[in-house]
Amino acid sequence: MPTDSSEFAAPVSRLYGVGAKQQEKLLRLGIRTLGELVFHLPRRYEDFSQTVKIRKLVPGRKQTVQGTLWQLRESRTRQGRGMLNVTVVDGSGVLHLTWFNPRYVKNQLKEGMDIVLSGEVSVFRGQLNMVSPAFSPVTPDAGEPDNLHVGRILPVYPETDGISSRWLRQKIHDALALLEDVLNERLPPELLKAEKLPELRTALKWIHFPSDHAQLTLARKRFGFEELFYWQLKSLQLRQNWESRGKAHLSELKKAPLAKLRDSLPFELTGAQKTAIREILEDMAKPLPMARLLEGDVGAGKTVVAAMALLNATANGHQSVLMAPTEILAEQHFQSVRQLLSDQKIRIALMTSAKCLVAGEGIDQAGMWEEESAARRVPRSDFLKLLSSGEIDIVFGTQSLIQADVRFVRLALVVIDEQHRFGIAQRDKLAQSKGNPDLLAMTATPIPRTLALAVFGDLELSILDELPAGRQPILSRLVPEAKRAAAYDYVRGQLDQGNQAFVVCPLIENSETLEVRSATDTFEKLSQGPFSDYKVGLLHGRLKSAEKEAIIRAFRDRALDMLVSTAVIEVGVDIPNATIMMIEGADRFGLAQLHQFRGRVGRGDKQSYCFLFTDSDNPESVERLKTFVGTQDGFALAEADLKQRGPGQVFGLQQSGMPDLPMSALLDTRLLKQARAAAERYLPRLHEFPDLKKQMETLREGGMN
Ligand code: ADP
Ligand code: MG
Repeated sequence: MPTDSSEFAAPVSRLYGVGAKQQEKLLRLGIRTLGELVFHLPRRYEDFSQTVKIRKLVPGRKQTVQGTLWQLRESRTRQGRGMLNVTVVDGSGVLHLTWFNPRYVKNQLKEGMDIVLSGEVSVFRGQLNMVSPAFSPVTPDAGEPDNLHVGRILPVYPETDGISSRWLRQKIHDALALLEDVLNERLPPELLKAEKLPELRTALKWIHFPSDHAQLTLARKRFGFEELFYWQLKSLQLRQNWESRGKAHLSELKKAPLAKLRDSLPFELTGAQKTAIREILEDMAKPLPMARLLEGDVGAGKTVVAAMALLNATANGHQSVLMAPTEILAEQHFQSVRQLLSDQKIRIALMTSAKCLVAGEGIDQAGMWEEESAARRVPRSDFLKLLSSGEIDIVFGTQSLIQADVRFVRLALVVIDEQHRFGIAQRDKLAQSKGNPDLLAMTATPIPRTLALAVFGDLELSILDELPAGRQPILSRLVPEAKRAAAYDYVRGQLDQGNQAFVVCPLIENSETLEVRSATDTFEKLSQGPFSDYKVGLLHGRLKSAEKEAIIRAFRDRALDMLVSTAVIEVGVDIPNATIMMIEGADRFGLAQLHQFRGRVGRGDKQSYCFLFTDSDNPESVERLKTFVGTQDGFALAEADLKQRGPGQVFGLQQSGMPDLPMSALLDTRLLKQARAAAERYLPRLHEFPDLKKQMETLREGGMN
């Protein structure tokens, strides 16, 4: 965080009107402390800064009026809902206001009071009207309206159910007042001066409560610059570290085995795959270590690209590693790469917390055979010896592979799946502790190129922007509650045809216990109710990894028809026979994440379906889900996600303590160049600026999730 002050780290409950309930809701927005609250930056603004005479109001616009409350009348709609009708006059005309269910506003309005109103102008029965406008009394003693909510450029925040922008505005205002004295600048003053940027305290005030557009522009520019600056510093430092040490093991291009693999594939490589493979192999032959990000939508075919790279390292007599975010995924990669390379004489291994498996020729170590995978099970200590004596060529596993007691000889290549989950820190650690191997990171989150440069400025990019031919789009639907039973009918029909279904249960941030409970409840409801005639399984993060594997395996082998799961199913698991993906509480997930879930089906040649359920009636959430249903394009979804939720939310950087800026700042190429140039100037002088170093440390931790 920007300062060490305890004020800053004080819980939000320090504020008047923030109780346990609000605290819990704020947590959903990643806000725990006062500091995090004031860095909850607006997502967009509505401009109500110009007051308009009633006569000049334009239907369809969002406008602001100041007038006197003339008449208040309560009535009921034909459906029996309570309704409040109010008229306001300002000497130029009459404006009608309507509130439905006006319990809360009723007590705040009195005939004769002066009032400022902001809202969307409409025409109803020939009269000018606003429905539920924001309002504020013009208090006689102050002479000025309390202008937090009306008559100004109005910040609109990322919201969650029960936490509105209006509410946030007030609390952020209060928090800023409390923190006034501890909002210390963290950028060098000379840098701010050179870049003509406002200092932190001012910028925060301006970004939340700008009095005009000039303030707003400057404030956004400052935070945009700052975020880009830290990332660029970090990126430059990483690249410098990499390049200062040449790599220990060059991997020349070994044509014969690569051609053999290519010819054994049951398909043609796409053009994008060929390009990516060429770029990677060229990097591997250079003396500087590769640092490359392979980006490709779900199903774009990253595995075979990785297999080519791993094979090339092996063909050079080197060792290589593939790390995945979960053990299930590591095992899946192990199995699929092993299959791809089954014609080659390669010793492939898997290391998880539960077991170590070795497959391939030349291993005569005593050990149990795993019937399932025809690989040999080896005690961990023996396994580590096999690794450190170079008898294993390629090893698959999770982050535990970069633990200190895991030693390699000739480690030349590290492939990291789902790189945005790994973060800079692990990459760095890996490079340092394991002798600067070539690094290939893979991600299925389609990050727009400019953003990738901004956030992963230390990496080269290869993009698989071409799906293998013949992929059927997955039919996606947002299912209203009333149609749930019908959807279940449909799913039963699919199961009867021998297909399989996933059910994903809502993400409950920061509470695995609740998450597990909700999945368990859903499992019981479904397996005892609508799907009692089918075999239903349950998967969640609290199960031991052996149990998880057993369940996934049972599902893969069709011993289960349906798998109810928490979000652990998100990445990778490949079940070609699954044609249905049902997602509960879909509004809790980001679009990119929903897209990952959807990518779990449609992996065979059958028509597949994705059904979303939500109990949210927040129009924004519903709109988001409709966007999702309407497109299969992962890039488009990632961009929509970025615009709505900011890059932190999307790429798991939210713990970095960085302001979560709107997309516009990150796509501002000029600002990016400015930040890069500044970072180049400051990197050599970093020791003079402890605050900057501290910020970069925070970035490190930010990546570790
Ligand atoms: P992802 O990029 O999501 O990791 P995978 O590597 O798992 O994708 O590939 C998805 C599926 O597409 C696999 O079954 C793989 O065999 C297949 N595949 C990969 N490349 C091609 C291609 N060029 N043509 C057809 N199928 C392909
Ligand atoms: Mg994959």
